[in-house]
Amino acid sequence: MRYSGLSILRNALSGQKNWAPAWREPAPKPQYDVIIIGGGGHGLATAWYLARNHGITNVAVLERGYLGSGNSGRNTTIVRANYHIAGNEPFYAHSLKLWEGLEQDLNYNVMMSQRGVLNLCHSDGQFDFYARRGNAMRLHGEDAELLDREAVRAHAPFLNFRDERFPIRGGLLQPRGGTARHDAVVWGYARAADSRGVDLIQNCEVTGFRIENGRVRGVETTRGYIGAGKVGMAVAGRTSQVAQMAGLRLPIESQVLQAFVTEGLKPVLPGVITYGMGHFYISQSDKGGLVFGGDIDFYNSYAARGNLPMVEHVMEAGMAMMPMIGRARVLRSWGGIADMTMDGSPIIDRTPVDGLFLDGGWCYGGFKATPASGWAFAHLLATGESHETARAFRLDRFATGHVLDEEGTGAQPNRH
Ligand SMILES: Cc1cc2nc3c(=O)[nH]c(=O)nc-3n(C[C@H](O)[C@H](O)[C@H](O)COP(=O)(O)OP(=O)(O)OC[C@H]3O[C@@H](n4cnc5c(N)ncnc54)[C@H](O)[C@@H]3O)c2cc1C
Repeated sequence: MRYSGLSILRNALSGQKNWAPAWREPAPKPQYDVIIIGGGGHGLATAWYLARNHGITNVAVLERGYLGSGNSGRNTTIVRANYHIAGNEPFYAHSLKLWEGLEQDLNYNVMMSQRGVLNLCHSDGQFDFYARRGNAMRLHGEDAELLDREAVRAHAPFLNFRDERFPIRGGLLQPRGGTARHDAVVWGYARAADSRGVDLIQNCEVTGFRIENGRVRGVETTRGYIGAGKVGMAVAGRTSQVAQMAGLRLPIESQVLQAFVTEGLKPVLPGVITYGMGHFYISQSDKGGLVFGGDIDFYNSYAARGNLPMVEHVMEAGMAMMPMIGRARVLRSWGGIADMTMDGSPIIDRTPVDGLFLDGGWCYGGFKATPASGWAFAHLLATGESHETARAFRLDRFATGHVLDEEGTGAQPNRH
């Protein structure tokens, strides 16, 4: 069923009781052309673009819990394309363009809200760096505005302009950045993929791979063996664990990233704001809650819950940036497991096992990558070739030394 004003009116007349479920609950078939492990945004987007762009629909997405139960349903929803280096920026620029047409593409309201992303800077050196980053973004066709201190004050007068230690020097604004509702993105891709015949199989954990003569033949799951021509992994914080089942050791560490939300407040934030002297980012949800986060917890873990020292660390950075946040009451906090690569950039590539492909290493920032990641991973699965926007996201870069070390995006091994 297509969603439209007319379908809402028609269903209103029958007490909203006749909506079809948004997707089916099929039993797994014995064999698929493509199996995607992981029913987060990346896995579902891959399934959708496999069907939409390549006509491949004999596809199953296998999810150990429910769709969106991983980081796709736990993130702080920030969407942006404000990268510096050439391997990254074209990919995120493509992603932002896909975001801008996503609701029409999926026929689903993902609550895309382009209220802008402002990165604050606090020294001349940082200001110069942001000028260079803004120029790089513009060279790749993105929007970027360098703001001086007074322009930042006009944009967000509640920030701490009296801080003697870390005075606000200016900021880099990407007006087309913003937020989107994370669950809606999952549901929109799921519904769209299902409508093309993709099987979305929940409560189905992959427990092993069947590999014969160096080629993947299928996966062992909690619901039995399922055969596949090709298998793609899109399991975020579990990437290293799942890859290990295929005998692969990846340059990835799993770490908890926490997020926080306050009680609902009247509209106060003009958009997303990030602090330049500590890791802190904040936006305001459509319900009014201030949604914020900061650093990863400084140890490896597969437990999706955080620890108190990091709570204190994040609150401290928030108070330094905008002291008024101290008046807001935090309602909830949660954690997700982030798959951190050692250069902060992702991997979309084939693996040494024939027919087994990898989409992972999204670190802090894979939500905004969801459309472009699905697009590029589907391209790789369908054609065997890397998509032009994702050619730099190779697995062997860690062996060859061609790393994509984007400052401030990664695991920063020196801080471990
Ligand atoms: C607190 C927090 C805040 C964040 N904020 C932002 C942000 O503001 N902006 C941004 O761009 N990014 C952000 N991120 C990062 C972003 O959420 C992730 O990079 C992105 O959601 C990854 O999507 P995914 O589909 O790859 O992973 P997930 O959504 O985690 O999906 C992977 C799925 O694989 C499933 N799975 C795992 N193992 C198996 C198995 N063996 N068998 C079957 N299924 C399996 C999991 O259950 C999970 O549902 C944040 C992350 C966190 C934790």
